[in-house]
Amino acid sequence: MKKSKFDRYLKPTSFDPKNHWMVGIVWPMQGSKGKEYGVELHDKGFKCDCTGFAYHGYCKHSKAVLAQVEGAMQ
Ligand SMILES: [Zn+2]
Repeated sequence: MKKSKFDRYLKPTSFDPKNHWMVGIVWPMQGSKGKEYGVELHDKGFKCDCTGFAYHGYCKHSKAVLAQVEGAMQ
């Protein structure tokens, strides 16, 4: 598969998302200016639909969800 900047994921460090039961879950995140973004877990990692994520491959929304999920697992 060809890799593009739109095919980036924030990989978790404490668990493997492949075939994970949380794959497909979308966490709604409140962004700045009242916008709402969705952070979804794919089998390669987290993905947010904000422009920052598309540009950097991570963002504060996806990082917040990652911290929340990994924190809940400990
Ligand atoms: Zn985001």
